[in-house]
Amino acid sequence: MFLQHEEVELIKIIRLSKYNQSDQYVWPYTSNLDYSVKSVHWTATHDFSEDDAIVPPEGSVILKAQIWNLEIIPKIQQFIWKVISRALPVYVQLCSRGINTDPTCHRFCMEDETINHVLFLCPHAQATWRCSGLPLFNLQSSNLEENISALFAFMNNVDTSKKISKFSFWVLWYIWKSRNEYLFSQRNVHPVEDIYRESSANDEWNSIYVSKKASPVLNLKPTTWDPPPMGWLKCNFDSTFRKVSSRAGIGWIIRDAKGVFVCVGMVRINNVSTAFQGEALALLYAMHQVWIRGWRQVVPHHAKHGNVLHDIRHWMSLLSECSLGSVNRERNMAADALAKSILEEQEDVICCLIPPLWLIKFLYWPYTI
Ligand SMILES: [Zn+2]
Repeated sequence: MFLQHEEVELIKIIRLSKYNQSDQYVWPYTSNLDYSVKSVHWTATHDFSEDDAIVPPEGSVILKAQIWNLEIIPKIQQFIWKVISRALPVYVQLCSRGINTDPTCHRFCMEDETINHVLFLCPHAQATWRCSGLPLFNLQSSNLEENISALFAFMNNVDTSKKISKFSFWVLWYIWKSRNEYLFSQRNVHPVEDIYRESSANDEWNSIYVSKKASPVLNLKPTTWDPPPMGWLKCNFDSTFRKVSSRAGIGWIIRDAKGVFVCVGMVRINNVSTAFQGEALALLYAMHQVWIRGWRQVVPHHAKHGNVLHDIRHWMSLLSECSLGSVNRERNMAADALAKSILEEQEDVICCLIPPLWLIKFLYWPYTI
């Protein structure tokens, strides 16, 4: 079998397990290897290495990314995403999908009914924009994305009040709603009536949004280390990955239920291919240390969480009174500092039963971190 040089290098960095295991299928596009529809969409639109890559939806990716930062109601965010992706079922769009229908605007303006026409260029839409009183005089481009960009610029303009800028998106939404009422309910909504509906919807949304914003639920992350139950030890571990050198620094620190320092260790590992592999190896090293010292009631904690996973499961089964948890980075600073430190040291492995001087600042106050 002939293998490319890159494939050989990739195979060489696979770490073999000491324990026999059978092959299994995994989904490689998520961190936990579980299949998700979101990752399929990402893969289909980003991985162009194969001939059968799916063409991403139409529309500017930059414009789409801005949608989710707008302070507007989610249904309008989704609506704008459809507008930019050319996914609104206007007549021209339906014809392009093979549906046999008349592509002209049904408001008797004799123009093709494109998305840009319905929302910006149709006389009915222009009347609605004029009635809104908004200082938007440049929404007449034949390019849909230019008109949407102008709306975004209006929204982000510091001189525009938040309430008025949100109103502009309600106008857009109700122009589309009116078009559907006209076609499917035979109701011709006057632009002035639309403005009333847009205004009251905007008022209602603002009153809910502002009152929600005024009383935010405080969700402060705890920043101090918390001890394990009495009789238990806690092992915090972390890893730092340097892609350029394919190295990972691994650090762990073990403390008891009173926060008293027990030991620390650091290891520098070569030929690490990903940050995830470094993190998994960090857990594996930490469990080895716990095992060889004869400790059994240990809580390994990490800031986030092939073969390495198989070995981890094996060691977890040996440490039967062991539970694994995750903490936020602020509560894992000692292990993080150890992992970074080993990359600058001469030795590849360091274990200490007395904390290094530089680590003291991470210990003992108000508990430890
Ligand atoms: Zn029209």
